[in-house]
Amino acid sequence: MGMAGKEEHIGIVGAGISGLALAYELESRGYRYVTVMEQSDRVGGKCCSIEYKGRTYEMGALIGLPSYQMTMEYMEQFDLLEKGPLLDRGFFDPDGSKISQIPLEQMPDFADEFKRLPSLMSKYEAIRQPGFRQVPPELYKPFSAWCDENGLTVLRQVFMHYFCAFGFGNMDDVPAAYVMKLLNYDNLVSFIEITHMISWPGGVVELSKRMADCASDLRLTCEVQRIGKKEGTGQLKVVTNQGTLYFDRLIYTAPLQELVHKMELDAEECRLLENIVYERFRVYAYRVDNMPKLSGYIPGNMGQGHRRHIRPLPSRTRLGIGEQ
Ligand SMILES: Cc1cc2nc3c(=O)[nH]c(=O)nc-3n(C[C@H](O)[C@H](O)[C@H](O)COP(=O)(O)OP(=O)(O)OC[C@H]3O[C@@H](n4cnc5c(N)ncnc54)[C@H](O)[C@@H]3O)c2cc1C
Repeated sequence: MGMAGKEEHIGIVGAGISGLALAYELESRGYRYVTVMEQSDRVGGKCCSIEYKGRTYEMGALIGLPSYQMTMEYMEQFDLLEKGPLLDRGFFDPDGSKISQIPLEQMPDFADEFKRLPSLMSKYEAIRQPGFRQVPPELYKPFSAWCDENGLTVLRQVFMHYFCAFGFGNMDDVPAAYVMKLLNYDNLVSFIEITHMISWPGGVVELSKRMADCASDLRLTCEVQRIGKKEGTGQLKVVTNQGTLYFDRLIYTAPLQELVHKMELDAEECRLLENIVYERFRVYAYRVDNMPKLSGYIPGNMGQGHRRHIRPLPSRTRLGIGEQ
């Protein structure tokens, strides 16, 4: 896009990490009129770090993986050091006893699955492209069914913990294509504890905050209510609780299925958007006295039958838990 493009007024809906990274990239490339609209009174969206007695606690995303190339690049640009707490990644049974991530007897199967993975994944190179346009139909089925079909029973478990805890949903529902966007060799290596995970002293939200500081026009408590066309101009008319704004282009990073109520769409578009399943997550923070310094996963509390139930551990285990 030439200079004229850079004079365009660009609106971005949502100041989560996606919206803020977009604003930062556009402004770095010389776009002069970029407006970010955020309905909440804070930036970060699902990256939400809170402070309590001088410490940071995460109410959304917890960690980064060293394989997050872009995140690592941004950390360098924003002088963000990876100096947060070193996270222990234990695995526990529902009674609080430590278990291993992969049961010993399944290790040979895991080694075999891990070896087969690169050739299996090479069939799905298209999945690395942005979007879901090129997805082969065999990846429409739930990830767990795809794993079963391909004899990846151990890998399926390894992925379940992270996928579920990262807030992406449940393996038995989520289409394989969606999971496989995340399933690359480097991420997998991070998952099985070969490499460390990344955390920040100011919490996950720190990167969003630093990006927000660079945004020239960020509007908090600005809820986008309606998106339409401005008659005869080719511009978009965006109605917000803070008034009506006009843009040449609009980028929407908020939950897509809500667009149905915000825009005039044709029947096919409505049908598609209404099919998007949005996982609602409640995150609870507890104050627990004498809590041992450990963190980890309870695979036995994940999976279909356990959804929407907080299952505290028996008190003798002294383990404090939150829910993600
Ligand atoms: C519990 C949990 C744990 C997670 N753990 C990890 C982890 O450890 N590591 C990891 O990499 N990922 C993790 N994730 C995933 C990660 O947090 C998300 O993928 C990422 O933060 C999404 O960013 P986003 O900007 O795309 O969307 P969001 O963060 O959802 O941002 C969208 C923004 O749009 C705003 N918005 C919505 N509607 C409107 C409107 N009408 N008008 C204006 N603004 C609007 C919202 O308020 C929000 O700020 C986790 C997610 C959850 C829920």
